Amino acid sequence: MAKKLARKAAAKAAPKRKARGARKYVYFFGGGKADGNRHMKDLLGGKGSGLAEMTNAGLPVPPGFTISTEACTLYYREGRKVPSTVDREMLANLAKLEKAAGATLGKVENPLLVSVRSGAKFSMPGMMDTILNLGLNDRTVEGLKARTSNGRFAYDSYRRFIQMYGAVVLEIPKDAFEHALEHVKEARGVRLDTDLDEAAWRDVVARFKDVVRSRTKRDFPQVPLDQLRGARDAVFRSWNNARAIEYRRIYEIPDSIGTAVNVQMMVFGNTGNRSATGVGFTRNPATGAKEFYGEFLVNAQGEDVVAGIRTPQPISELENVMPHAYKELRQITTRLERHYKDVQDFEFTVQDDRLFMLQTRNGKRTGYAAVVIATDLVDEKLISPKDAVLQVDPESVSQLLAPVFEPKAWQALPVTTRGLPASPGAASGQVVFTADDAVEWTRQGKKVILVRKETVPDDIHGMFVSQGVLTATGGMTSHAAVVGRQMGKPSVVGAGALEISESGRRFSVDGATVREGDFVSFDGLTGEVKLGQVGTRPSEILQVVAGDMKPAASDLYRRFDRLLTWADKFRRLGIRANADQPDQAETAYALGARGIGLCRTEHMFFGEGRIPIVQRMILADNESDRRAALAELLPLQRKDFYGVFKAMHGSPVTIRTIDPPLHEFLPKREDLMVEVATMEAKGTTGRELDEKRALLRRVEQLHEFNPMLGHRGVRLGITYPEITEMQTRAILEAACQLAKEGTSVVPEIMIPLVGLVKELRDQKAVVDRVAADVMREQGVRVKYLVGTMIEVPRGAMTAEEIAHEAEFFSFGTNDLTQLTFGFSRDDIGKFLGSYQDKKILEKDPFATIDTIGVGELVELGVQRGRRGRPDLKVGICGEHGGDPSSIHFFAKAGLDYVSASPYRIPVARLAAAQAALHVKVGD
Ligand code: PEP
Ligand code: MG
Repeated sequence: MAKKLARKAAAKAAPKRKARGARKYVYFFGGGKADGNRHMKDLLGGKGSGLAEMTNAGLPVPPGFTISTEACTLYYREGRKVPSTVDREMLANLAKLEKAAGATLGKVENPLLVSVRSGAKFSMPGMMDTILNLGLNDRTVEGLKARTSNGRFAYDSYRRFIQMYGAVVLEIPKDAFEHALEHVKEARGVRLDTDLDEAAWRDVVARFKDVVRSRTKRDFPQVPLDQLRGARDAVFRSWNNARAIEYRRIYEIPDSIGTAVNVQMMVFGNTGNRSATGVGFTRNPATGAKEFYGEFLVNAQGEDVVAGIRTPQPISELENVMPHAYKELRQITTRLERHYKDVQDFEFTVQDDRLFMLQTRNGKRTGYAAVVIATDLVDEKLISPKDAVLQVDPESVSQLLAPVFEPKAWQALPVTTRGLPASPGAASGQVVFTADDAVEWTRQGKKVILVRKETVPDDIHGMFVSQGVLTATGGMTSHAAVVGRQMGKPSVVGAGALEISESGRRFSVDGATVREGDFVSFDGLTGEVKLGQVGTRPSEILQVVAGDMKPAASDLYRRFDRLLTWADKFRRLGIRANADQPDQAETAYALGARGIGLCRTEHMFFGEGRIPIVQRMILADNESDRRAALAELLPLQRKDFYGVFKAMHGSPVTIRTIDPPLHEFLPKREDLMVEVATMEAKGTTGRELDEKRALLRRVEQLHEFNPMLGHRGVRLGITYPEITEMQTRAILEAACQLAKEGTSVVPEIMIPLVGLVKELRDQKAVVDRVAADVMREQGVRVKYLVGTMIEVPRGAMTAEEIAHEAEFFSFGTNDLTQLTFGFSRDDIGKFLGSYQDKKILEKDPFATIDTIGVGELVELGVQRGRRGRPDLKVGICGEHGGDPSSIHFFAKAGLDYVSASPYRIPVARLAAAQAALHVKVGD
């Protein structure tokens, strides 16, 4: 789908093609006019399209050009080589840039310096590479010195360039440069970079060049055009570095879309105290509050802010330091927010009091902030409710259901320290100090908090599995903060009181020493950090849903409810829940489900005190004993069904007859064998041993080699019709009772695993017979439907004739995926990782529907089913019913509803609205 999107966008940009039919690969921006615009993200990446749009809007953007993502695709297609046509186009645009900048690359008198940055369609913070100050060499550095009358600045810039170019393009380990720098600092007896003078930086430059020579056996490249080509290719290469690949895997960004490269005239935030660089948001990205938000550093270059090495100043202080630039920045960013109708995340540089905008994009935000911002923007009349529905990523509403701390337990612990509240949420777990440990400990079933001085892009696998991330340095826009927010991972950053020894696997704070494995807890909304473990409780929304809090007392709940109520107006798919118990059904109803799409009756068998009865039913070796046990289960099931019907307030409820193989209700064969052997060894005799042996015999009888393909689903009902009879009776008796009480319900009785119409016919006859009996006995008539799950490929293929018997279908996409691929639902974990690493599968097909294989069977089942019965009601109740991109597919396939687990209901409501509004997931 992503490929299709990319192609579509490229087609839109068709008028930009060059003459003689040649494709355009390089897009210029500068002097108030740009070749591109905001709608060209596929081609120019987020950064490139933002720069073009800001240029067109007349904002102060340093001129430059963007080499398109298509050039990246070509680079890979040509075996990691940029074709000469693209290179020629780059040179033509470089000439334009030199003219616009009034400076020339490589010219000593007035050297043009450029930045070379990556920029994909979807932002991937810190994952790819950037090179600044390109164009400097042994001669132009003198030109820069002369132009700025600042030798210290010129040589500091040159060493930064060698360092970045060395690491990124020449792939020299960063340590090599850091050692050389440390050596100079030590020799001169200074601690901070800012204490080094021109002579010292000249010394550093000489040493860095030695590092390059000794590592690459070549001199540092002096020809600026070679530098530019090297940097461009390195950015393309960085699309496929390990961390970028991992990031794309987590965020499901297609590998095929590539990155653009932005080459832009350098402006400097490090020319002295009248210069600065910073980043910011038009609103708080953690809480959504309407406040100008961000950080800056005086006399610094861009990377210093995001790298998390120096803790920057809050942006409000810019007003005191550089009032002019601050005022202009406020005006511009307010304008940008109104223009894009969304929160902007921007980067700027002030060079000698002059403001330049370097980037703007829609800001990433927590799920919490997303809901606050969308509802605020509607209230401010900046967007419509429809825009608000489109603006919020469906996954973010599920973040709002995450737990918060148990208030008493939390208050009982003293605050040990505070950091910056980068991403909200309650996090409690055992401390680990490396991302790899986080993964390993989590694999062992532990809950961990990843504690780092600062996180780097290589840490994302560890961040992903942790309960939360805690860092000692860095600001609200440091890597840990940005990525934490995006993952919805509670994060506190810049907790400066932590003295961390990563190698010693401990940190000290406030006189205490915390070692690996000790518990810490923190609140990502306030920034408070405490030592010890603290229990959590449901989010405010779930407290309202459970009736423990009044809606009026929760601002968050009211916003959540407004947004989802808007979503309900746009969606066409019905939303039901998979729920087996009355309390689950109530939660689902309160979260907006209007119906149960799947009630797995066997889950009720696990209720308290029921298993022994179920086991008696299974162990019975004759029908009358079995019926006796079933008679005991009947009132219990009737009570369950009554509760579920009532919780749904008259909305439809689909109840499935028993599905799993019976041995699932019995003890494990291996355990029983051990128990019997132990009793025999101890010399135990009598009834107890006899009963154990009988149980073992029955378990052995029921043992199956492939239970998922075995005696389950409709096959059970066919062999033991008395089970279907009992369940039908319980359902109808509950419905009749409610009818007498004045509540009408229409039970939908669903037969699982049907592949042959005759299977359904057999069971339907049982249901109809018992239903007629119950209604006669009760003296009431209730309407009920009999339908089937479509979860066996043969069921989908013969859907037309099955629909002659079935009054509704519900696709069981869990089994349908299992049976279509022949992948075991339970064992796929053993090889899915290898499949994904090798790109044989991009996504887990049990989480996101495989549209072209399993999805084809769904489409076919819908079409053929409706041929057999035009008014056939069709839903889906596999796990895919709560997955946004699968929901888009089901909407297109013409289903009537999706059914998801209760906590996924809000996600499904929003995704269904977006599907109806034809938004593609990921756009
Ligand atoms: C399914 O197979 O998709 C389904 C919903 O049933 P179960 O997961 O209970 O097999
Ligand atoms: Mg199933």
